[in-house]
Amino acid sequence: MQLYNTLTKTVDEFVPVNGNRINMYTCGPTVYHFAHIGNLRSYIMEDALEKFLNYCGYEVKRVMNITDVGHLTSDADSGEDKMLKGAKREHKTVMEIAQYYTDAFFADCAALNIKKPETVVPATSLVPDFIHMVEVLLEKGFAYQAGPNIYFDTSKVPNYYALTGHDEDQLRIGVRDDVEEDTNKRNKSDFVLWFTQSKFEDQALKWDSPWGVGYPGWHIECSAISLHYLGEHLDIHCGGVDNIFPHHTNEIAQSEAYLGHPWCRHWFHIQHLNDHGAKMAKSAGNILTVSVLKEKGYDPLVYRMFCLQSHYRKPLEFSYDVLDNMAAAYSKLLGRVKNLKPEGQSVDEEKLQAYRQQFITLVGNDLNTSSGLTLVYDVLKDAEISDATKLAVIQDFDQVLSLDLCKLRDAEPETVDADLTTYVEQKIAERKEAKKAKDFAKADAIRAELLEKGIVLKDTREGTLWEKA
Ligand code: AMP
Ligand code: ZN
Repeated sequence: MQLYNTLTKTVDEFVPVNGNRINMYTCGPTVYHFAHIGNLRSYIMEDALEKFLNYCGYEVKRVMNITDVGHLTSDADSGEDKMLKGAKREHKTVMEIAQYYTDAFFADCAALNIKKPETVVPATSLVPDFIHMVEVLLEKGFAYQAGPNIYFDTSKVPNYYALTGHDEDQLRIGVRDDVEEDTNKRNKSDFVLWFTQSKFEDQALKWDSPWGVGYPGWHIECSAISLHYLGEHLDIHCGGVDNIFPHHTNEIAQSEAYLGHPWCRHWFHIQHLNDHGAKMAKSAGNILTVSVLKEKGYDPLVYRMFCLQSHYRKPLEFSYDVLDNMAAAYSKLLGRVKNLKPEGQSVDEEKLQAYRQQFITLVGNDLNTSSGLTLVYDVLKDAEISDATKLAVIQDFDQVLSLDLCKLRDAEPETVDADLTTYVEQKIAERKEAKKAKDFAKADAIRAELLEKGIVLKDTREGTLWEKA
């Protein structure tokens, strides 16, 4: 597979360290609020990547953290604790908030056919690992204690800005800088590994540590969780582009300082979903959730298709007009798949394999899911293959697309309960008698009575038929 790598800034051949096995790490949600559909754009594309790698025959071991401690309202080290803010808002404990929004997140993922990673780790479950990592960084001289906190010294790593390609002053151009400078820091880009004191005295979750009772900084969790579950060499690390700096930049600095060798080979970043030109963000308040889309009558998979239609490296502008077009396209596509008539036909294995190869070439070109979708339409149009082959190919592609393309075919025919049938047939018989007796008023009344109950009568040459409206 060819995949853009934020570290090298080129589209590289993706080669795992360990033959057929791929170690993949995903930055999970900060669970103080519902995930918005922008967050979920990132998770849909990461899911498509994982499933595509599986489709190509790789075994993917994927780990995701759940940020339930340490993420402050600024992505750097200032501002209020996001979890505490959520707890105060809803008059719940931090752990109740974390559990509630973690469950809500995975329910949204399920609605979007995003597979839950095999290992999901709440940050609060691995604090001893974080402490150990900070101890090693102090021992090796990459960290220092200043005032009440432990900081990472970014001047000690040779290429701190490798991922961004820019230094911090350039990165901060246009960013509102209304947070006070932390005078304990030796360098502006240094970041907190362990807090024993922050401005917010009522920090809810605290742990004992060699430096006093406190709590971890945000970045340390992903490095430590990844090292714990995936070992010293990571094949691929994913997240939205806002994670490139400072979060992933800091992860690289501390992981490589700890290990003493390069850590993650490939960095996969998804561009933002925008709303009226601005990044959809929980803090900006311009968020849409899966529940809102459902309330408005959209199948969540329409949103998945909307994401797959666009390339992950391009910003995606949300609009209901485009979503409406996508809903129409999706329902038409399901209808076309439903109308295939494979009964009694055989699947042309050679054609199936040829289409598989084509799909791999197209999608394997920097995760071009949109070309993969176009190929579904080409398959449906192909006059040289049977419906059975079409269906087999589409089911095969759907392992990656996960759009439930066969869902109308697979739906059970609606069962009509026996009592209703007896009742309606009795009414039809009464109506027939009434008509015979030329009591048309009664016959019409029976029709109206049934219609009120959602039953439509149709008089045909074969007699009166009925269906649910
Ligand atoms: P958070 O819950 O804020 O930690 O973010 C979860 C994931 O969503 C991270 O990978 C972010 O980079 C990503 N993300 C945040 N906002 C957006 C957006 N508007 N579009 C796409 N991805 C986003
Ligand atoms: Zn992370």
